Amino acid sequence: MTERADAVVIGSGALGGSLAYLLSRTGRRVLLLDRHGIASQTSPRAAGLSAVLRPDALMTRLARRGAALLENFEPETGIAIGLHRSGSLKVARSPALAEQLRQEVARGAALGVQAAVIDAATARHLMPLLRTDSAAAIAHYPEDIYLDPALFTRGVCEAARRAGCVLRPGTRVEEILVESGKVSGVRCSSGTITAPVIIDAAGAWARALARSTALPMVAVRHQLLVTPPLQASRADQPVTRILDANVYVRPCDGGLMLGGYEATPLILETVPDSVDEMPLDMTVMRGLADAVAAEFPVFADLSGAKLRGGMPTMTLDDEHLIGPVPGAEGLFVLGGCNVGGLSTALAFAEALIAIIEDPDAAAAIAPLLPARFAGQTVTEAALIDACRLHYAQHYWSAAARAAM
Ligand SMILES: Cc1cc2nc3c(=O)[nH]c(=O)nc-3n(C[C@H](O)[C@H](O)[C@H](O)COP(=O)(O)OP(=O)(O)OC[C@H]3O[C@@H](n4cnc5c(N)ncnc54)[C@H](O)[C@@H]3O)c2cc1C
Repeated sequence: MTERADAVVIGSGALGGSLAYLLSRTGRRVLLLDRHGIASQTSPRAAGLSAVLRPDALMTRLARRGAALLENFEPETGIAIGLHRSGSLKVARSPALAEQLRQEVARGAALGVQAAVIDAATARHLMPLLRTDSAAAIAHYPEDIYLDPALFTRGVCEAARRAGCVLRPGTRVEEILVESGKVSGVRCSSGTITAPVIIDAAGAWARALARSTALPMVAVRHQLLVTPPLQASRADQPVTRILDANVYVRPCDGGLMLGGYEATPLILETVPDSVDEMPLDMTVMRGLADAVAAEFPVFADLSGAKLRGGMPTMTLDDEHLIGPVPGAEGLFVLGGCNVGGLSTALAFAEALIAIIEDPDAAAAIAPLLPARFAGQTVTEAALIDACRLHYAQHYWSAAARAAM
């Protein structure tokens, strides 16, 4: 059976779902395919943090646009995504990271993002579960938000359906069909679908599916846990990041969520068929809890905590992969998330749709285009080493990395 569509989106995670939603609203006939259930893999297992201030102006613009689209989503669709405008705190212990915070706050002022260095008493007032004796500097970012990742991922897919998109769970794309340098469609478990535009939003599987050397990324295990309810935890308390330990904490379900970036991450050289097959490891979380014992002694007792994890991707240069895939006209990728593709999903989708409609729009996100890797060769070992390092030093700027 051959079916026709204007566009096929492969993958119903936060990225594919967001794209299917916004693309369907342009009036195109869009098919959203997923080999598993809709919104069932990495995205619903995420932490749901959104930080507006990023290392550069482009990512800050996209993150800010992403946050605005998230804030609009529920009023626009009537679909709840558990969004809290909690603000966030960053705590630095070492001089190098304290300097990073001061520079970041100055950059925020230049970019029009609210950010301030605050004193320890103010930080404890905002986040009473935080101990501040170890802190050399603390910064506050009042614009930051967090949301429920499962509600959001299901929400964008439902919004896509309401906008006319056809959702096909249990439909595995076996091959992206390319004829004379142009995509013609996809061959999938249920037959062939022809379409002039194909978007590879297959998450941990995106690289294997596109078979392109311009997508140097690897999947990595990333985990978090959620404690049982705690008396002092309230949903409006800020997300708190302890930079030295690469750990984040936020309110969740009446308790606290703890997640972070261990120094020796598990790179998934062979990506399991499903996130359910990825091994979880509580000892990693005990290590992260120990690493923030000075700031959050509450994590000394992890009994009853629920562990979850997923398979985000890291890229060779720690930047996302969004845009045309070189060598196959009509094929686009939306991935290479670097553990940050959920909060920015709507903004990334919007940027990609602009490129689908007008190729010149690609210039606006040049540092994220796969074309930046065209013609480069990198060994798998070098790619894994680079990705491991980006992951292990997730919260450290280039200057801080050099000084640590
Ligand atoms: C514990 C954890 C915490 C995180 N915290 C944050 C955070 O605070 N903020 C943030 O922004 N990001 C966070 N992330 C990262 C975020 O989860 C990812 O960036 C995001 O989920 C990536 O979405 P995706 O759509 O690419 O992937 P997925 O959600 O995995 O979706 C990809 C989909 O493609 C489908 N697929 C794959 N191959 C095929 C095929 N051949 N045919 C059909 N379908 C296919 C899969 O079944 C899957 O449903 C976190 C991740 C984890 C694991």
